[in-house]
Amino acid sequence: MAGMAAPRDPWLGWHWGEARALGRAVKLLQRLEEQCRDPRLVMGPPSLRNLLPRTAQLLREVARARREAGGDSEGPGGAGDFLAIYLANLEVKGRKVAELLPSRGKKDANEEVFREGSRFRRQLAKLALIFSHMHAELSALFPGGKYCGHLYQLTKGSAHTFWRERCGVRCVLPWAEFQCLLCSCHPVEPGPIMQALRSTLDLTCSGHVSVFEFDIFTRLFQPWPTLLRNWQLLAVNHPGYMAFLTYDEVQTRLQACRDKPGSYIFRPSCTRLGQWAIGYVSSDGSILQTIPLNKPLFQVLLKGQKDGIYLYPDGKSHNPDLTELCQTEPHQRIEVSEEQLQLYQAMNSTFELCKICTERNKDVRIEPCGHLLCSHCLAAWQHSDSQTCPFCRSQIKGHEAVSIWQAQERSVEVGTTAEDSRDSSHREAAQWELEPVTPSAPRLPPEDPSPRRPQDKGRLTVATLTLPRLRAPLPLPKMASVLWEVTARPQAREGATESS
Ligand SMILES: [Zn+2]
Ligand SMILES: [Zn+2]
Repeated sequence: MAGMAAPRDPWLGWHWGEARALGRAVKLLQRLEEQCRDPRLVMGPPSLRNLLPRTAQLLREVARARREAGGDSEGPGGAGDFLAIYLANLEVKGRKVAELLPSRGKKDANEEVFREGSRFRRQLAKLALIFSHMHAELSALFPGGKYCGHLYQLTKGSAHTFWRERCGVRCVLPWAEFQCLLCSCHPVEPGPIMQALRSTLDLTCSGHVSVFEFDIFTRLFQPWPTLLRNWQLLAVNHPGYMAFLTYDEVQTRLQACRDKPGSYIFRPSCTRLGQWAIGYVSSDGSILQTIPLNKPLFQVLLKGQKDGIYLYPDGKSHNPDLTELCQTEPHQRIEVSEEQLQLYQAMNSTFELCKICTERNKDVRIEPCGHLLCSHCLAAWQHSDSQTCPFCRSQIKGHEAVSIWQAQERSVEVGTTAEDSRDSSHREAAQWELEPVTPSAPRLPPEDPSPRRPQDKGRLTVATLTLPRLRAPLPLPKMASVLWEVTARPQAREGATESS
């Protein structure tokens, strides 16, 4: 902590136990990497061979950053606590991997692990998934090695509010404590259901819940108001749900249903954590896997059922009824202040007008950054494979329907919902948008438009986005309407994004 009296050696300030544990973990990962070299162990994503060196590298960066920072623990549930839990878990999982793999120089070791479909192979695939979750968690909480768990922004606004109000700046807490906090908002019966919840939520199987794991869970089982009901119907009761299954294993499992088009299973994606991957047998008997973009899973499954794509969960004839989850989600409301109203009026524009197309009103908010635009523009933008916000370039992790609410109307309309007053970040994002773009610090570095692929009709031209938004009258060129008629491109393929 700052303000300590005695001058201190930064090396001494860093807890020697943590330094040693970090070094030990890196060595363990290096040993495992060597053990994984056998070509018969090549696996699709997640691949241990790919994950082990990346995790080791990140841990080295963490060690360097911790040494430089003098090893501040950041208080309970902070960096020091997180690392202690993380490294202990890494050691346990690493030892399990080591046991499964043949050790170097020993030829007679466990050959079963090379056989597709064997129990050992299955165990190795599950451990690979855990390692991929652990790598994702460490990257999220220590980007570039530097701790930011206290600032981590959860994707869904309600989940963010919940975590920060109840857990403060902590980034990790023991399961027992977390379950009490969760129950205060989403009641769960103790017993097997609670156990099941823990196994879904605790992605790294550490016995703790991190802010990252909670973020992933609340994205997978959105919307927030019915979070655990969604989880129960989709993960506990649904025969199509597969926890801890890899891309390859989904292909294998659906082989058994190839003569039954409409068979499907779904699992949390491991290359795009927080999103679902759905595998299904198409009408011509081929097995496909897709990742639907940021929609509640039940909506996707219901739509697929209507279209005749998702009919037989895991090949079974009965498709569970999910319509009870369909209660329309209340739109989040964005308040427009009197000042904002006048500012836009002075420019012959309105706050609610989408600043990309200047044709439709804003009706969607990008998560977690909070920028507003119309859903047509967002869809077109995402169809161009862009995963970052067109305004600020932060990663798009989700989006939420909103309606703009003017201050004038507000005085007429009485009875704000709790939703309105709760999240001040809405207004911040709205105000942020009003800031002029200063020439010295351009917020929107233009994306190099070349090389432009011919099929990218739906790509928003960058010129639109780099123009200052506040000059009157708004000089935003209108996009040709043909741009919006994007032919539906195949949804993202799981595995396609992972190079090895
Ligand atoms: Zn628009
Ligand atoms: Zn943004």
